[in-house]
This record gives sequence, C-alpha cells and structure tokens, in this order.
Amino acid sequence: MSSAFDLIVLGAGPGGYIAAIRAAQLGMKVACIDAWRNAQGGPAPGGTCTNVGCIPSKALLQSSEHFEQAGHAFAAHGIGVSGLSIDVPTMQQRKALVVQQNNEGILYLFKKNKVTFFHGRGMLKGGSGTEGWQVAVTGKDGEQTLVGKQILLATGSVPRSLPGLEFDEKQVLSNDGALSIDAVPKTLGVIGAGVIGLEMGSVWRRLGAQVTLLEAQPEFLAAADAQVAKEALKQFTRQGLTIHLGARITATKAGKSGVTVEWTDNKGVAQILKVDKLIVSVGRKPNTDGLGAEVVGLTLDARGFIAVDADCRTNLPGIWAVGDVVRGPMLAHKAEEEGSAVAERIAGQKPHVDFNTVPWVIYTAPEIAWVGQTEQQLKAAGRDYKVGSFPFMANGRARALGDTTGFVKMLADAKTDEILGVHIIGPMASELIAEAAVAMEFKASSEDIARICHAHPTLSESLKEAALGVAGRTLNF
Ligand code: FAD
Ligand code: NAD
Repeated sequence: MSSAFDLIVLGAGPGGYIAAIRAAQLGMKVACIDAWRNAQGGPAPGGTCTNVGCIPSKALLQSSEHFEQAGHAFAAHGIGVSGLSIDVPTMQQRKALVVQQNNEGILYLFKKNKVTFFHGRGMLKGGSGTEGWQVAVTGKDGEQTLVGKQILLATGSVPRSLPGLEFDEKQVLSNDGALSIDAVPKTLGVIGAGVIGLEMGSVWRRLGAQVTLLEAQPEFLAAADAQVAKEALKQFTRQGLTIHLGARITATKAGKSGVTVEWTDNKGVAQILKVDKLIVSVGRKPNTDGLGAEVVGLTLDARGFIAVDADCRTNLPGIWAVGDVVRGPMLAHKAEEEGSAVAERIAGQKPHVDFNTVPWVIYTAPEIAWVGQTEQQLKAAGRDYKVGSFPFMANGRARALGDTTGFVKMLADAKTDEILGVHIIGPMASELIAEAAVAMEFKASSEDIARICHAHPTLSESLKEAALGVAGRTLNF
C-alpha cells in the first residue's frame, strides 16, 4: 500500500471523520488516523462525541428520562407501574452498544468512501507543503510514516481538571467516569453547572442520587438568553437539583469514603460538601499533546488552541485544523461543518460556515435550544429589536403530550424584521430549533415564519405563534 496521500486527517471525531469522507467524495486519496481504543483495544472512531460525549450522554439521558416518566408521569395516563427499578449495568450495556454501533458505522463509512483508516497515534514529523508533510503513525504494529500533500488536524479536546484534584474516574469523575457510574450514588457533587454538569447531573438525579452543583459564575447559564436561563433554573430546582451560584472552591480531598469539597458561597460563607462521587465539569482544553506542533513550528494561541484563520488555515502551508482544537464553540456539529468546509476548500470550492447560525442544545428536561443572538447581547450591542413569545402551555400538542413547560421566544430587528435569535425551552426544543436555523440562514423575517403553514397539532406551531407575537398578533394566546 502506498503511503502517499492527498490528505491525511489526524483524529476521527466529528471534525475529522466528516472531513475525510467529504474529501474522498471529492476525489482525494485520504488517510484518517485515530488513536481511540474500545474496551478490547480495537479501533473506536468517532472521538469524544461518539465514545464519551454526545452519543453516550444522550443514551443515558433517554434511559433515565424513561425511568423518570414511568415513576412520575405515567400515572396521569392511567398507566400503573409497580416495582419500578433501575438496573444500572443493563442501562450501561445498552449505552455501550449504542456507542459500538456508531463506531462500526464510521468504519463502514470509511470503507464505503475508500478512506484508509489507521488505528494509532499520529505525529507531525516534518516536510513542507510542496514536498508533502510527513506524519508518523504509531499503532500496534509499530511505527510507519505517511506523506500527505495536505494535513487536517482534528485532535479534539480533553477535560480540564481542577488543580490538585486529578481524575481517578472512580470518585473524581470527568465526563468519561460520569458516563460509566455502575450504581446510583447516594450523593453526587458536580463542580461546574455548564452543559455537562446539567446533563449528567440530570441523569443521576432522575435515577435517585441527591445532586448538588457548585457553579463559579454568579449567573446561571450565562450563555443562554436570560429569560430562558431563569426558567431553566426554576425547573431544575423544582426537580430537585441543588444549584449554588457564585461558589468558590477552596479545597478538595478525595478519600476512601467519598470526596470532600470546601467552598465559599456567594455571601463569602465557608461551606463543606461531602459526596460519594464528584463530577468535575469545568470546561475542556484543546488536545495537542504529542502532535509534534513544536517539531514543525505550528502556532498555538495563548490558550493552547491551534491558531487558525476564519477558513481553518494554520500558519503552515497545507496544514488545516478544525473542531474543538481550534477557537469557537466546542460542538460536534460545528466541528463537522468546519471539517466539510476544509475538504471543499482544498478541492477549490468556496464554502462558508456562519457561527451565528450554529444552534446550541442542552438535552435536559425541559430541553434548551437556541440560535443567534440573546436579548442581552442585542441590548449590549444597542440593536433595536422586537420580541415575540409563546408558551407551550397554550399549544395543543404539548398539552396532549403532557409536557407544557417552557416557551419559544423570537427576536427580530425592529426595522427590517429579520430574525436575530430564537430561544426555546421546552419539549423537543432540540428538534424545533432546526426550523429557526434554516430561517436565519435564509435571512428570513419573523413574518416569513408567521405566514408559513405549520401542521396541526405540532409543537412547531409554537414557533409560528412566537413569530406572530413579534407583530403582537398571536392567535392562540
Ligand atoms: P473529538 O471528538 O475530541 O475527536 C478527536 C479525536 O482525535 C479523538 O478520537 C482522539 O482520540 C483523536 N486524537 C487526538 N490526538 C490524536 C493523535 N495525535 N493521533 C491520532 N488520533 C488523535 N457536542 C454537541 O454538539 N452535542 C452534544 O450533545 C454534545 N454532548 C457532549 C457531551 C459530553 C459529555 C462531552 C464531553 C462533549 C459533548 N459535546 C457535544 C462536544 C463534542 O463531543 C465535541 O465538540 C466534538 O466531539 C468535537 O469534535 P472533534 O472532532 O473536534 O474532536
Ligand atoms: P461548560 O463551559 O459548558 O461549563 C463549565 C462550567 O463550569 C461553567 O459554567 C463555568 O463557569 C464553570 N466553572 C469553571 N471553573 C469553575 C470552578 N473552578 N468552580 C466552579 N465552576 C467552574 O463546559 P462543560 O460543561 O465542561 O462542557 C465542555 C464542552 O463540551 C462545552 O464547551 C460544551 O459545548 C460541550 N458539550 C456540549 C453539549 C451539548 O451540546 N449538549 C453537552 C456537553 C458538553
């Protein structure tokens, strides 16, 4: 087999594997190198997203939501449940199977698209854009050197730990350990009430753990629209999550019987939290370890991300980088769009990725989703805007589903009526937000959505009603 490729991709997470497939579709000879190992030591492409991120977390969120529904919501439908129990090992086996199916799906797609997959660690060795860059791959059969005319770095991110509190994945858990707990802990602490903290905290709270979240910021979910964040905090607190904002961690100690966290609350009062297990979800850092950045002179920015321009070009000719290892939101779909766009740029096309229309979703119950600007961002920018909103309480489908929490909120320019942001908290927000993203990509006005026929009864009618609300003419509220 020849070791010369048009494109060598390092990392088979959503950024890397999608880029590899797109480049192969465009006629390139592509290699993709990924180091992730499954429990048997075999290849497990898909990166953080497939192995310890998006996919397993959603599998556990689904299992735990079924448990919650059976325990608390079925009775209203006349469905009696007795002897309800949760078998955590079975739930975890199901999660592992879902992950495995995704790993195998990617290997199948590589085969189908004639992408050559290498299981091992890739490292930049030298060369240049004209001769081709050399990449060493170290796998179970030793080291081999590949040469690529173009290189794409998609090595992702790794969890950030707190100083002096290393992850042991038994008591002090990163996202990896948080997804693999084998029995419901009595008490669970979470440091960082961001996306992972809320999703994982919800899973284990639904299954019976007493969950306490300690968040450094004085505001809850500061990136979300403030009205949505306020509703979310109310709902999560009502469900039983204990959330402390403005918390400052002063000391932590992991012992045989659990973890002790010393912290001061938002009034400066010293507090102690003792828990069986502690999830640390305080953000993630770019993964450039062992990449050979210093060997080839690849520039990293001050925060350790690979420095790229708007088109994902690094400082070195023919070397590109996408996904979590570069600036921008750490989201799988952002990584995918960037990966696809790089493959198309190499092929001479002119794709564009608009960060303003990248949707955000938090898969809690209620789900939270948004795209575009928040009301506080528009205020800060001095933009003149109108607001329309509609509660799910007034939506027939939501009532039939028995899930009327939350609302849809639409923000539109006061003069042009262009949609500037859509914010949803409530049932199926993750699916509903796609309509808003499409509308914004097409620079739609709120009137455009208001005039489009939406099927009845659907949750999507709430989006139309929020759009009508921008003009002060909701019909069902
Ligand atoms: P990664 O997915 O991290 O993949 C990088 C790959 O490169 C890995 O397989 C790694 O082993 C490999 N690699 C690294 N260095 C080398 C090397 N030198 N040689 C060979 N291989 C190497 N995002 C969402 O959009 N939706 C969600 O619901 C969501 N849920 C999440 C839940 C959790 C718990 C976590 C932790 C993250 C979640 N994310 C979610 C974020 C999402 O997982 C990341 O944004 C996404 O995986 C980034 O993709 P990537 O391709 O940049 O990197
Ligand atoms: P995050 O940035 O969402 O949340 C981290 C939280 O920890 C923040 O609220 C921050 O203020 C807080 N924090 C930081 N240091 C702290 C400290 N010392 N004490 C207390 N609180 C502290 O990060 P995450 O939840 O770790 O997730 C990592 C990445 O993974 C995110 O960028 C996210 O985009 C991605 N992710 C996405 C999804 C999704 O799309 N549904 C799900 C999970 C993860």
